[in-house]
Amino acid sequence: MTLTNKKPFIAGNWKLNKTVSEAIELISSLKEACQSITEAEIVAIPPFTALHSVASLIEDSPIALGAQNLFWEDNGAFTGEVSASMLTEVGCSYVVIGHSERRQYFGETNESVNKKIQSALSNGLSPIFCMGETLEEKESGKTREKVESQILEGLVGIESEDSKKIIFAYEPIWAIGTGLTASPHEAEDVHNFIRNILAENYGNDLSSCAIILYGGSVKPDNTFSLLSEKDINGALVGGASLKADSFAEIIKEGIRAYKEK
Ligand code: PEP
Repeated sequence: MTLTNKKPFIAGNWKLNKTVSEAIELISSLKEACQSITEAEIVAIPPFTALHSVASLIEDSPIALGAQNLFWEDNGAFTGEVSASMLTEVGCSYVVIGHSERRQYFGETNESVNKKIQSALSNGLSPIFCMGETLEEKESGKTREKVESQILEGLVGIESEDSKKIIFAYEPIWAIGTGLTASPHEAEDVHNFIRNILAENYGNDLSSCAIILYGGSVKPDNTFSLLSEKDINGALVGGASLKADSFAEIIKEGIRAYKEK
């Protein structure tokens, strides 16, 4: 799979929402709304229990499948965990790693995020690697420091070729599920900073083609202004991905922004 930032990348993280029957209903409506879309990479990220049903419904559609997490071991006595090879077999191409909710509620660290990224890559999955600062860190001017350490510690030991298979997602924690959004200018500033860190550590090859998503209360009415920014290549959408019409609208707004930039 070759990743490109020449079209918008729009991923919907359903989090802990949707039973299997609800997931079937949502993906069926989304599929109908997205049938003819070719100018965006669209990813649905349901809970583990719905992956199989969703995978079978999107086979002949432009929608790809992602998972919300994985464990780095391939198999063994790790009750409750799911491995990268289980995800690829069920049809996933992507996996979210290091989401702030996992860091905050489930004790994930940069070190565990790094192990998960390595496991995803060695099993052919593209990680959607999340990073972002808290409100307190933002207010004390520590956004860059936080994001830089998350990137560098998350990428320890990752070879340059593999780094091209990673999607980066900047998600200021204060903007997730709060209705607050970083202004396009604020978000662009951090995205540009991320691109520069990638250039310094992995060269221009990666930095110029890296997909850097914005996440944090993305809605149909703020997508255009965010994705019009030079270094914002798409969106990781939580709440607004739970309804097919709002998610489809975000995809269309992303395509419109890309056409004009
Ligand atoms: C997210 O969970 O990644 C997210 C950005 O959520 P929301 O869009 O609801 O803020």
